[in-house]
Amino acid sequence: MKWQLAWTFLLIYAAAAVCGCRATLPAQGTSSSAIEAPVTGPFAVQELQQFTALDPIDTHTHVYQNAPELIALLERLNLHILDIVVARDPDQKSLDVERRQVSDFVNNSHGHATMCTTFDPFLYREPSFKKTAIAEIDGDFNHGAAAVKIWKNIGEQVKDPKGNYLMPDDPVFEPIYKEISDRDKTLIAHVADPNTIWEPPTPKAADYEYYMHHPEWYMYKKANAPSKAAILVARDHVLEMNPKLRVVGAHLGSMEADFKQLADHLDRYPNFAVDIAARMPYVVMLPRADAIAFIEKYQDRLIYATDHSLAAEAKAQDAVKQWESSYAFDWRFLATSDLLQYRDHQVQGLALPPAVLHKLYHDNALHWIPGVITAQR
Ligand SMILES: [Zn+2]
Repeated sequence: MKWQLAWTFLLIYAAAAVCGCRATLPAQGTSSSAIEAPVTGPFAVQELQQFTALDPIDTHTHVYQNAPELIALLERLNLHILDIVVARDPDQKSLDVERRQVSDFVNNSHGHATMCTTFDPFLYREPSFKKTAIAEIDGDFNHGAAAVKIWKNIGEQVKDPKGNYLMPDDPVFEPIYKEISDRDKTLIAHVADPNTIWEPPTPKAADYEYYMHHPEWYMYKKANAPSKAAILVARDHVLEMNPKLRVVGAHLGSMEADFKQLADHLDRYPNFAVDIAARMPYVVMLPRADAIAFIEKYQDRLIYATDHSLAAEAKAQDAVKQWESSYAFDWRFLATSDLLQYRDHQVQGLALPPAVLHKLYHDNALHWIPGVITAQR
């Protein structure tokens, strides 16, 4: 099977993938001249029944606003979400604010949201780092947090004064990883990014503008920056050093461009699973039979997720519409054989067996992130 994706696809799709936003991308598939009209829009009544019957869980979202509209959507879709805190910058105050926003939403979500916490990696050289980080995550565990996230700033941004980049397998993190596994929680690892950010600027690439405006993530231009391969090796080292630690690699473990590499990792590391957040287009791009074969083979290791967000200042109504139509698209792609539209291309849904769908949408989330569904408050 051809797991390796064509280079051109990577260029086209990278921008959405990098931004962490959902991609609305062209995909290969059936001819656009098909007579049948593609299915679009929010869930129809019968579709909604089938979707809600899965007890769906989305294990990768970022909600920083206590929006009743969103809670109403989660109730209507019978959907549970993991709401993830991210340490975005060296300002501890912004992390505290984000933690509070997530906690507020979780507490008001009628049991539909659970927290994934984090710690501040920018403080890693402080003598109190280990103690503070463990106290913070323990505090959140005690209030129901089910997981801890590490983000791509480890490997791509945080450095010592000599310019050496902090890597995911730095010994400074080991006590934290141990605490996570001792507490029977899960590490969600978003490390590295799509390949294009390590490569020369390509004005034709869809992400070109993004990197011109966000040079902080353009690794190609950074002196002494680790390669993507080096960051993934460091991530793998964490898996090897902590065989009892459950690790969910966000965004297909950043191996979206090479499903063979992803398969090899899933074969090699029994403590590793991946979410498909913001990487569904890469699955859509696979030849249909290959996509079905891959998902069926790794049906216990793939977790449905989106990377949907609701920023503190965003309009909740707009977000809710966007969330619902993307849940509907993803479900149709995975569960039905409907003809679907991605820009000017049409693709056919995978029509996965119900047992596999139930694993992707529900069982795997519970298995890999126990506590992702909390009791109703
Ligand atoms: Zn995310």
